[in-house]
This record gives sequence, C-alpha cells and structure tokens, in this order.
Amino acid sequence: MASECIFCEIIAGKIFSDVVYEDGEFLAFRDIQPQAPNHLVIIPKQHIASLRDLTEKEEDLMGRLILLASKLAKKEGLDSMGYRLAINTGDEGGQAVPHLHVHLLGGRKLNDQLG
Ligand code: AMP
Ligand code: ZN
Repeated sequence: MASECIFCEIIAGKIFSDVVYEDGEFLAFRDIQPQAPNHLVIIPKQHIASLRDLTEKEEDLMGRLILLASKLAKKEGLDSMGYRLAINTGDEGGQAVPHLHVHLLGGRKLNDQLG
C-alpha cells in the first residue's frame, strides 16, 4: 500500500466506496463522479502507479484485469449496446489518481473522440 494513495485507502477500507466486485487481486467500485450512466473504476490491489510502471511481471495481472472488465461490463448489462475501457496515464493522459485503474463506461452513446 502506498501512503496517501486514495485508491489504496479504498482497498484498505479507510475510505468508503460503492464496491461492486472484489477478490484477492482486484477491486471494482462505482466512480464518485460518473461520466456515464454506468461508470466503474477497476483496480489491481497491488499499488502500480500507472501503465508506465508495468514490467513483464505484470503481464498476467493485466490480462486478468481486462478479462475482469469484460465480465463486469456483462454484469452491468452493457454487452449488447457496447462500452468503453479507458486507462488514463500521466498528466497529459488525464490521470488524476496515481494508482493504475481501468474506467468502464457505458449506458449511453459515447462520443467518438478519444481525446
Ligand atoms: P483518472 O482521472 O483516470 O485518474 O480517474 C480517477 C477517477 O477516480 C475519477 O473518475 C474520479 O471521479 C474517481 N474517484 C476519485 N476518488 C474517488 C472515490 N473516493 N470513489 C470513487 N471514485 C473516485
Ligand atoms: Zn495505491
């Protein structure tokens, strides 16, 4: 756990969040400022600051993270209409919380622009 990381504090139960899924490796909760009707944040419990910090060691973890995102999309009822996964990275990538996370967005027609 990294000190002063808000997502590590959510994992530790020190900050409340609306958890929709948890296992030994991952946590998923509803975004506090949803950008779409369905907006989940999916995180590894291991503190990894961003995609920039990945090494070969995280190869399988990242595979499981994306697979979990697709399962949660299905559980949220987004499969038929579609959805978007986003991983913001660094300042210019729009990352505000320095703990690697996947945004799962859906429930409305998302705009075509990626940036
Ligand atoms: P990013 O800008 O990619 O770093 O995304 C961080 C996301 O975390 C934003 O969409 C925030 O609304 C969300 N967020 C920040 N704090 C909380 C919290 N306590 N509970 C749920 N979502 C949060
Ligand atoms: Zn963290």
